[in-house]
Amino acid sequence: MTTDYDVIVVGGGGSGLAAAYAAVEEGARVLIVDAGDRLGGSTNLSGGHVYAAGTSVQRAAGVEGDKPEDAFNYVMMLNQYRLEPAVVRRLCEDAPAAVEWLIGLGVQFPVDQLYAAGVDGNLRGHVPVGAGAAIVAALEGAIGGRADVALRTRVRELLIEEGRVCGIRADGVTLRAAAVVVTTGGFGANPELLARHYPDAAMHGDWTWYIGMPHSQGDHLELGAAAGADVTGHNRGLLLATPGFRKELEVYLPSWLVYVNRDGRRFVDETMEYNIMAGVIREQTGGECFAIFDESARAAAQPDPDTMELVRAGRATTSWLPEALAEFAQTKKLMTAPTLEALARLTGIRWPALQTTVETYNGFCEEGVDAAFGKQSADWKPILTGPFYAARMRPAIVCFTSTGLRIDAEARVHDKADLPIPGLFAAGESAGGVLGDRIFGGGSSMSNVLVYGRIAGRNAARARMVNAL
Ligand SMILES: Cc1cc2nc3c(=O)[nH]c(=O)nc-3n(C[C@H](O)[C@H](O)[C@H](O)COP(=O)(O)OP(=O)(O)OC[C@H]3O[C@@H](n4cnc5c(N)ncnc54)[C@H](O)[C@@H]3O)c2cc1C
Repeated sequence: MTTDYDVIVVGGGGSGLAAAYAAVEEGARVLIVDAGDRLGGSTNLSGGHVYAAGTSVQRAAGVEGDKPEDAFNYVMMLNQYRLEPAVVRRLCEDAPAAVEWLIGLGVQFPVDQLYAAGVDGNLRGHVPVGAGAAIVAALEGAIGGRADVALRTRVRELLIEEGRVCGIRADGVTLRAAAVVVTTGGFGANPELLARHYPDAAMHGDWTWYIGMPHSQGDHLELGAAAGADVTGHNRGLLLATPGFRKELEVYLPSWLVYVNRDGRRFVDETMEYNIMAGVIREQTGGECFAIFDESARAAAQPDPDTMELVRAGRATTSWLPEALAEFAQTKKLMTAPTLEALARLTGIRWPALQTTVETYNGFCEEGVDAAFGKQSADWKPILTGPFYAARMRPAIVCFTSTGLRIDAEARVHDKADLPIPGLFAAGESAGGVLGDRIFGGGSSMSNVLVYGRIAGRNAARARMVNAL
């Protein structure tokens, strides 16, 4: 059968560009269709950190012997084995090659930027110079003129014949291809889909907001449904905790805050990594907690030092400064009361448990040792002098979503009978089952984007020869 293209990639963000380039490398005729005015999607806004074990960057940093197998064990343990082992194994095995692939395209991952991502003790977080935009630029540059690109075109329909996906229909035009790769990103910008597929994000109502692009509308779910695709990864993604003062992205919050739940108890080291924190707060009554501090802390308030650096460079804003907090107290976004007992009444935090918690915490501050949760802080602030403050903290910032089309380790989309749907591949946020309840640290999503984008593109290109894929 004649086709217009070998591969049509629907969505030209990070995973779509990785897929398109991989397909072009296989000699395929490729079309990239994107709803936006330019390619790159949310990947363009991203930090672009990539999680990988066993790279040349690690070796140059003196990290010897780190292996994909160790990363696999860590990811599976962190997620209590509630993930498809074959899919995670492939992710971990191919992540170092994806990093080398980008290095070959000119992306730089400085050795001194390598960091221990999340609660992982190993240095596996790779930070690209120029962030996600540099990865997009490198992939676009590598593709060059070797793929056709259609922008401002939102694809809502796949061409399906006898159970095989064989093209798309968009803007009244039908285009045929041997395979279609769905890489339309997630659904962070679609409140209706958040309510259906990511209730932990949607439960916070007006507080919930998404940091990515408006085109993250979840079209992968509609496209997949028409082809009979199975959907997996319910209620998964990445959320960050916020006091809801303004729509402000602060990944790391100040270490001097003291988190208590409605029972009046601390429940976590307040400096716990963000990949863990949202889930722990979610488990408290009401899915929220309160950050407690006193007037001396407010008057001396400082954000996390890394955030402060960004603020000074004009690349971020922060609410954790004395004047801003005074303003939020005035507008009642920050709750305040003259005594701790009155604060407990105002917030509904159980009294006198709050009193016990504060007294214990003040003792930790004196000694500089948190005997309960082991918090390490250079900035201990006891809670002593009124007025007292309580900021409601909710995991309501949506960074990405992970409910997507069920894929296997070859990026083939499976149907509800768990069989691959001929001609249909997915990657990135559109692919479900790759990331679990706990993302494994900075770079998890980009690992998925690059690894499964490459696999999808390669296999889609081969589908023109091997119809069985
Ligand atoms: C500010 C920010 C920082 C981040 N930092 C990191 C980080 O450092 N490391 C990490 O791992 N993750 C990070 N993330 C998350 C990560 O960047 C994203 O999960 C990832 O880039 C998503 O890639 P994608 O290819 O799946 O989707 P996208 O890059 O969003 O691409 C999807 C594309 O599909 C297009 N599209 C949508 N619907 C249609 C349709 N129907 N038809 C045609 N085109 C369509 C969109 O226009 C878009 O171009 C960050 C995210 C943000 C927003």
